[in-house]
Order: sequence, then C-alpha cells, then structure tokens
Amino acid sequence: MNNQDCIFCKIVSGEIPCFKIYETDQILSFLDIGPVNKGHALIIPKEHYKNIWDLPSDLGKEIISAAQIAGDSIVKATGADGLNLIMNNNEAAGQLVFHAHLHLIPRFNEDGLKHWDQSEYKNMDEAMALAQKIEKMIKGIN
Ligand code: 5GP
Ligand code: ZN
Repeated sequence: MNNQDCIFCKIVSGEIPCFKIYETDQILSFLDIGPVNKGHALIIPKEHYKNIWDLPSDLGKEIISAAQIAGDSIVKATGADGLNLIMNNNEAAGQLVFHAHLHLIPRFNEDGLKHWDQSEYKNMDEAMALAQKIEKMIKGIN
C-alpha cells in the first residue's frame, strides 16, 4: 500500500520526478537530491514501509542485491575509492523521510568526511552484560 503523504511514494508513482539509476519490480534507486558526495543515491522499496523493522526481510535482500549492483556502477561512474551504505531508522537516528531507504554514498580518499566519534564501555562487565541482554532478547523473539 502506498501512502498519499509520502514523498517517496510520490516518486514511485511518478507524481514527483527523480533521476532514476536502477529499478526492479520491487525496488527503485535514484539520486539523492541533496548529495553528501555527487552520485549519492537512495534505494527504496516501491511499497511503503516505514523502516527496517517494518520491511519484509525478502525485500531487504532485494535492496542489498540492488546495492551491490548500483553501488558498483556508482563507484565506477564517479571514480570513487569507497562506498558507505547507511540506513537511518527513526527520528533519533536522523530519519527524515519515513519510507524505508538505503543511502549509497560514494567516498573519495581525500573527501574530508569524518565518521562520528566513538565512545567506550566503563569496563568489560558492562559490555558483557549488555551483549547478554541483547542476545536474550533476540532468542526471545526468534
Ligand atoms: P533520511 O535522513 O530520511 O535518511 O534521508 C532522506 C534523504 O532523502 C535525504 O538525504 C534527502 O536529501 C533525500 N530527499 C528528500 N526529498 C527528496 C526528493 O524529493 N527527491 C530526492 N531525490 N531525494 C530527496
Ligand atoms: Zn512511502
């Protein structure tokens, strides 16, 4: 089901234009209108899903497969040295468009972009307790 108020659903329907680079029955890939580096593209499912948890896992596989195909050509076409795949889920993670999408960002050796700062655990017990808590939750769900 598509969502009438969603900008990416409007791109899928053709109501809003885009610079398409790749498409299958289930996904669409097009240039991001505000590129981090030129060639920055998005891959979206044609159906409206909000985020990673809303997305059927088969569609996730299709998106990763599209990222391999389109990502390879983005790197070659831009002369990039690398490629970041990023997915923002929920507002706290920087998601602005609530139609699931994967960012493909071509990277260059001297582009000057930095990753976010890393922090550290107080001690190994803190890390182990958190790993065990997450593992238990995964087992509870699966
Ligand atoms: P988010 O922060 O939700 O992960 O990223 C949304 C992305 O969508 C942003 O990088 C933004 O530049 C891009 N975007 C927003 N509106 C449009 C649009 O109408 N067309 C295209 N091609 N990209 C868009
Ligand atoms: Zn949508």
